[in-house]
Amino acid sequence: QDTLKQLVLLSALFRLVVSQGDDQKQSRRSTGASETIETYNQFYNYVDLTRRLQALAQSYPHIASLSSIGRSVEGRELWVMRITVDPNKDTPGKPKFKYVGNMHGDETVSRQVLVYLVEYLLAKYGEEDRVTQLVNSTDIYIMPSMNPDGFEKSKEGDCEGENGGRNNARNKDLNRSFPDQFDGTTVSPDIVPEVTAVIKWIKEKKFVLSGNLHGGTVVASYPFDDSASHPQQDFYSQSEDDSLFRYLALVYSQNHPAMKTGWCCANL
Ligand SMILES: [Zn+2]
Repeated sequence: QDTLKQLVLLSALFRLVVSQGDDQKQSRRSTGASETIETYNQFYNYVDLTRRLQALAQSYPHIASLSSIGRSVEGRELWVMRITVDPNKDTPGKPKFKYVGNMHGDETVSRQVLVYLVEYLLAKYGEEDRVTQLVNSTDIYIMPSMNPDGFEKSKEGDCEGENGGRNNARNKDLNRSFPDQFDGTTVSPDIVPEVTAVIKWIKEKKFVLSGNLHGGTVVASYPFDDSASHPQQDFYSQSEDDSLFRYLALVYSQNHPAMKTGWCCANL
């Protein structure tokens, strides 16, 4: 139960960071050795992202550890920030949680916001009780970008995806390239090294809960979302953990400024 509370808190914190980003334009954030002016009004490209994550890991070595789980088609690192006390050792029983952002290269908000979430957790540790408790008791992994090649190809303001940044550099949709439990679809690992790296990572870490953040529509999806014996669409395909997933999706939506009003893109 405590673990669940922590994980729900993490989900709520994500929303908090999003709204803080709006409020704190032009503010100066202190991150120790890596002190920079954060304007909250531009995206980091790959070089900026790498520098920022490296600086943060350097400033908070007691609770942060940066590593790469592999490389993209064009050789960019797939960075993951691990945030927990003793970040270089495994503590049995500490639940592992992960957020993955920017899997579709042109869905970019999550990439930036996850960096702010990393900053927030690191800067508030020891200052804010709930953050301190979370970082003490949970093994948090944050990957701001699963598709760094797609991001570099994307153009700000291109809402139709005409620059092809959604897919990876071999023009594969990473979100459609994981093995499907029902239809047996497989994609060659050479074409989607990003997916291969994430599968290996998931098998190693055994996360108890994860969130994958997208952009472009207002929805919270949860397993299974497909089935062997029912129509592909318009059928509720529940998993064994359905009540937990519904609860988490509800907490997320109730803390989301647009979702909680019942607003959705279809109303536009
Ligand atoms: Zn997406």
